[in-house]
Amino acid sequence: AAGEPQADCLFCKIVAGDVPATVVRETKDVIAFRDINPQAPIHILVIPRAHYENAGELGAAEPELAGILLAEAAKTAAAEGIDETGYRLVFNTGAGAGQTVFHVHAHLLGGRGLNWPPG
Ligand code: 5GP
Ligand code: ZN
Repeated sequence: AAGEPQADCLFCKIVAGDVPATVVRETKDVIAFRDINPQAPIHILVIPRAHYENAGELGAAEPELAGILLAEAAKTAAAEGIDETGYRLVFNTGAGAGQTVFHVHAHLLGGRGLNWPPG
C-alpha cells in the first residue's frame, strides 16, 4: 500500500539500513544521501522514509510530507553551501523521463553551473 515499505524497493532498503548509503541528513520523515553516480560535484537524493512512487503520488497522499521534503532539500543545500550559488531540484517521473527507482526522490544538484533547459 502507498506509504508502506516495499520489499523490492532499493530506497526502502536504504531507509531500513539494509543497503549502505552515505547519509548526509536524517530526520524522522526524510533521509538524504549521496547519489552513487553523481552528475554534479554535489548530487544528493532527498527521500521520504515512506514509500510513494513519485512526487505526484506523494503530494496527493501526503501534502504535508511533500512540503517537508522540499524544506529538507533546501536545508541540505544550505548545509552543502550551495544555497547562495544556486542548485537544482529534480523529480524524474516515469521511465520516459529517466526515473529508474520508483520511490520518490528529489535530486539535489549543485556545485557547478547548470544549464537550462536540461535536455
Ligand atoms: P532516477 O533515475 O530514478 O531519477 O534516479 C535514481 C538515482 O539513484 C540515480 O541517479 C542513481 O545513480 C541512483 N542510485 C541507484 N542505485 C543507487 C544506490 O544503490 N545507492 C545510491 N546512493 N544511489 C543509487
Ligand atoms: Zn521504497
